[in-house]
Amino acid sequence: MPASKRVAVVGVGTMGSQAAWRLAARGAEVVGYDRFAPGHDRGAAGGETRIFRSAHFEDSRYVPLLQHADTLWERLQEETGRELRRLTGCLLMGPTEHHQMATVLESIAEHGLDHEVLDVDALAKRFPQFRIEDGDAAVLDRHAGFIRPELTIQTAARRAEELGAVIHRYTPVREIVPVANGVEIRTDAGSEHFDTAVVTVGPWVNNLLPDLPWEVDIRRLISAWYVPTTDTWFGEELPAFIRTAPTHCYGLPSPDGVSVKLGLSRALHRPAGDPNHLDRTVEPEELEIFTELIGRHMPDLNPDPVRLSVYMEGYTESSRPLVGPLPGAENVVLLAGFSGHGFKLSPAFGDIAADLALDGTSPRPVDFLSTLDRTEA
Ligand SMILES: Cc1cc2nc3c(=O)[nH]c(=O)nc-3n(C[C@H](O)[C@H](O)[C@H](O)COP(=O)(O)OP(=O)(O)OC[C@H]3O[C@@H](n4cnc5c(N)ncnc54)[C@H](O)[C@@H]3O)c2cc1C
Repeated sequence: MPASKRVAVVGVGTMGSQAAWRLAARGAEVVGYDRFAPGHDRGAAGGETRIFRSAHFEDSRYVPLLQHADTLWERLQEETGRELRRLTGCLLMGPTEHHQMATVLESIAEHGLDHEVLDVDALAKRFPQFRIEDGDAAVLDRHAGFIRPELTIQTAARRAEELGAVIHRYTPVREIVPVANGVEIRTDAGSEHFDTAVVTVGPWVNNLLPDLPWEVDIRRLISAWYVPTTDTWFGEELPAFIRTAPTHCYGLPSPDGVSVKLGLSRALHRPAGDPNHLDRTVEPEELEIFTELIGRHMPDLNPDPVRLSVYMEGYTESSRPLVGPLPGAENVVLLAGFSGHGFKLSPAFGDIAADLALDGTSPRPVDFLSTLDRTEA
């Protein structure tokens, strides 16, 4: 039997914890490094919930990857006995002719996804929480819901450890040095040699790899939690929800049924600056847009937030993540720039990272995200 490959996972956050699990499950000798500890809230994860949806409104090419992720979400839950995801549905609302509505319907038609289309009357009757506008329609993606980000990362990391992975906590990697027969990982404690490295440092990608040939724009994202003014607001079935226009926003009922978390889209996020010095103070003027959205679309939410948190995320120009070898370093597999939609796909990306690190190629349809021949700046 050939000796197992030694693989470093640099950054054991959303993608790194899944990569560690998938690599360890395939018998690789895995060593993970994180500047904090798995499940922390200093990067792109945190805030208790992330949306999972099957009908992608960005691009229907993600659907096969979502289906692979779906299988792996189930597998991780089965292997660990933890509830990482709850399928409560996801309601996409907005003008009928909006391009995201069209892409969702395209994803649904192409892949036969479980859904319901609701017209204005049906929407108003079934989800009175939302103020509907003329010309609005909605699609309820049934195989959708929420994921628990902190629990997921800790569960995937622990599962990787059970399968033999070693994770160095509070150990920032300072440098990744490609060498003739592999790669060297340098930390303050010294240097270790590996056959391959998977780099999943999320919003720190430009700090660790300052010569990256693509722009990954690191943004500062605010999550804001609001409490309804009526006890009936959550109703019997309140799915996660997304409003496409005029201002793209999304919401997630908190799992304890007390509040609802609202978030905004890319255009409304300020640059994060240095990820090691993120400004976590939310200024009152940054809340105006949330207040406006509540007044217009969810008037029975109290516009005084009960909790505010700030996170970071890396966006590529096209919003398509970067997945593949680092230019000039074929033993380094990069996963970065998840552009606000990576969590739901993370088990699939972890598996693809394992394919690339162990076999140099992946059978998954991931070419449209590849770092090879990538032309965008
Ligand atoms: C507010 C918000 C809401 C979102 N909502 C959704 C949603 O509803 N659905 C969805 O699918 N996606 C959503 N996303 C996107 C998703 O959360 C991200 O795409 C995903 O978490 C990115 O994962 P990552 O592994 O790249 O980064 P991270 O999870 O931040 O992981 C990076 C890890 O690298 C570590 N690290 C950094 N530098 C070093 C170093 N030098 N050495 C060692 N370790 C290092 C960090 O400590 C961290 O643990 C949202 C993102 C945000 C911020």
